[in-house]
Amino acid sequence: MTTNTSFIYDAASAVDPLGDAEREKEKGIKHNRAKVGSGRPSSLIYTYGPGSIMDLPQFTIMPTGLDDWDRIWRRRDGIPEIRAPRLREVVRMLLRSPNVQLRPFPWQPKKLSMSNEGNDLGVPARVFPQWLRCTGCDMLAPLTSFSYTNTHPYRTDLACFEHGKCTGRKGDKSRQATRRPAVPARYLLACVDGHLDEFPYDLWVHRGKPCAEAEFPALKMIDRTAGRGATATIRCASCGLSRPMNEAQGEQGALNLPRCRGRHPHLDAFQPGGCRNETRLLLVGASNLWFPATQSIIVMPESPEEQEGDLADRVRIALGDKLLKYRDNLDILRDVLDGKVDVTDLNDDMLAQVVALATEPPATAEQQEEQLRTWDPVDLLVPEWRYLQKDPLGAGHEDPVSGLALSRRDLDPELRLEITRVLAVERLRKVNALVGFTRIDAMDRVGDLPRRLVPLTRAPRPEWTVATEDRGEGIFLQLDEAAVAGWEEQIYKAAEWAAHREAHRRNFYRRFSETAEDIDPDSRLKPPRYWLVHTLAHVLIRELALTCGYSAASLSERLYAWPEAEGRAAAAGLLICTTASDSDGTLGGLVQLSEPARLARVVRDALFRATRCSSDPICATRTPQDPEDFLHGAACHCCVMASETSCERANRFLDRRFLVNLRGSDLGFFGRGY
Ligand SMILES: [Zn+2]
Ligand SMILES: [Zn+2]
Ligand SMILES: [Zn+2]
Ligand SMILES: [Zn+2]
Ligand SMILES: [Zn+2]
Repeated sequence: MTTNTSFIYDAASAVDPLGDAEREKEKGIKHNRAKVGSGRPSSLIYTYGPGSIMDLPQFTIMPTGLDDWDRIWRRRDGIPEIRAPRLREVVRMLLRSPNVQLRPFPWQPKKLSMSNEGNDLGVPARVFPQWLRCTGCDMLAPLTSFSYTNTHPYRTDLACFEHGKCTGRKGDKSRQATRRPAVPARYLLACVDGHLDEFPYDLWVHRGKPCAEAEFPALKMIDRTAGRGATATIRCASCGLSRPMNEAQGEQGALNLPRCRGRHPHLDAFQPGGCRNETRLLLVGASNLWFPATQSIIVMPESPEEQEGDLADRVRIALGDKLLKYRDNLDILRDVLDGKVDVTDLNDDMLAQVVALATEPPATAEQQEEQLRTWDPVDLLVPEWRYLQKDPLGAGHEDPVSGLALSRRDLDPELRLEITRVLAVERLRKVNALVGFTRIDAMDRVGDLPRRLVPLTRAPRPEWTVATEDRGEGIFLQLDEAAVAGWEEQIYKAAEWAAHREAHRRNFYRRFSETAEDIDPDSRLKPPRYWLVHTLAHVLIRELALTCGYSAASLSERLYAWPEAEGRAAAAGLLICTTASDSDGTLGGLVQLSEPARLARVVRDALFRATRCSSDPICATRTPQDPEDFLHGAACHCCVMASETSCERANRFLDRRFLVNLRGSDLGFFGRGY
């Protein structure tokens, strides 16, 4: 990526773990290895992306921004790309960068567990937080006061930082100094705009003033609760002052914290001009430290126009400035494209058309902003829904480019009549791209508050972002539109719906008070049919896990549920799919369960199970009341909530009452459920 950036950044201190390890080896230093751990692609994108904190056995690390990944990719000639033009276009819009490509994680499978291929790849990360506490003497100091070892090639879990000359808590100088392990000091400061900073222990204990006794005071963190919970006390051994960390907690504690410095540790950079937001205390491991902002698609067969558009895009990027120079000379153009983009199948007319497309002027900045402002995440789902409405050309028909293979299933006479269409999806490809992240609050729509979305790069116009590709299978179910529309009209009048709407308003204003004037929160509330389809997806995932041995976490939902609007027909359906980065993904079992009689049983049992919960009647009657702002109704972890990997909505917009009638409520789309 380009080095041009608006961030305040020191290029001399770049993160380069592989380069560092190589230089150490050259110097003959008993070498410390670069690799400290590993993760699956799905966890690296959804849990441990750039800017998150990953707990290793002995310390914690933060994957860096993508600028530093370029150094890794430069070690290879060809950089792989994930093909998903429809997703790529949306990512370009969201990142305001016209040339973004989707790339996989820098990783290569090993033929044998001990072989070396792929050792030159990996996700760069730095130790963060960089303040550590010695478990022997409570010394609290930055990384440089500790020594690092990571020498065992297959035991990265042994990598650790140590206090080399520890003389214990009493600091007995006559005692023989020993090596004692260090652990991360787990306190951090964060702000709603996604900045994250080390906790300023020195300023804290001295109440904002310099130490009266020492320029570099000796700090201690006295923590008798094994590192968790804010009960630690910071003490300055040089001047004797001390201050407990619980004075930094809660609303009262927030008044004692300094303003935000605008730091992005994953970029090793500061916001120009600082930030000045209020900060809050977060602990390493807190669930609101990092929320991914991702977009995903199920790859569908491309129309001829889409294929042509993708070709034009590749021509445009491959040729760069040369495109305008040679646009009128197709022979030269073919020579220049040779080895870059294959156009040998195109005759001159077709090539001229591709070139014309490639040279169309890009959207102006104003047009882009308008596009971003009006973009609805549902737009990504609409083409999938449309394609799933068409009947496949035959049983198991496979589209060669997308790899999508579908069969239509007959409906069993025992299947609920509300389900009008069933497809077995024998093979599918799902592509997920990371566009940024937030801290403190998750964000549903990137366009709502772009300032809160933290960039993955220092470069203002990134050339790529990281994506994953899951192969799997699935079942698609569609609900009767007329029945859904009639039911939805009733729900809009129900008191339960009014309660959800009010809770959603409170939730929205609390989290995004500064956008309140621009956005009507009701326009961000999912319609009743979404709650219905979502709750149905969850009970089906649970049932499938119970009856066919899938782990619920290996199944995921894709929800098609929106009312009719300009440019799109109404939708009410769902796709449950396996994601094959787990080995469960290709068992073929899910497709077998779409056989008419088996599916009818799964649906019947799932609906029956939805009528009860071990926490009833509390669960069955749960309705948010002012000032509560949770976004679910009759739903809890005992009945319909799912793991984070299965739910694309963080278990919001779930209510069993919309699915089946519960005691005292007759709002169920499926009536009494059995
Ligand atoms: Zn020590
Ligand atoms: Zn002091
Ligand atoms: Zn800030
Ligand atoms: Zn429950
Ligand atoms: Zn869900």
